Amino acid sequence: MLDELYQDIIVDHTRAPRNFGVLQDPSHQAQGHNPLCGDELKIFLLIDQNNIIQKVRFTGAGCSISTASASLMTESLLGKSVLQAEKLFQEFHAMLTQEQFDHPERLEKLAVFAGVKKYPARVKCATLAWHTLEAALHHEQKPASTE
Ligand code: ZN
Repeated sequence: MLDELYQDIIVDHTRAPRNFGVLQDPSHQAQGHNPLCGDELKIFLLIDQNNIIQKVRFTGAGCSISTASASLMTESLLGKSVLQAEKLFQEFHAMLTQEQFDHPERLEKLAVFAGVKKYPARVKCATLAWHTLEAALHHEQKPASTE
């Protein structure tokens, strides 16, 4: 069971996704697809010459977990360096896939997804935005897929 407070945060971000919409003139962008659930996302980034994420936006349609995850991801990426973003993805992925993951609260708001680990199909929903981010950072031409 997801903690009630965590549920509230997910519902809030599903109803009112942050940083939702197209970003004009992004430096990086990519598409992502989770065929298992039907989630579709596009991530747009503006990264400056110091490798700092200045702007991040997303569009798409999907289930509440994928939408809330993309929304919370954009909030946590703003102002971070590309290196910090990659590290955050590794931590987030570890939290959702490793048997033992201590102190998920160090991921701040992203810890709301810790309970998703118990539902392997939903892990793909929660990580889609991050896989799409990776694709954008590496200028992948092919859409990211969770399959
Ligand atoms: Zn989904």
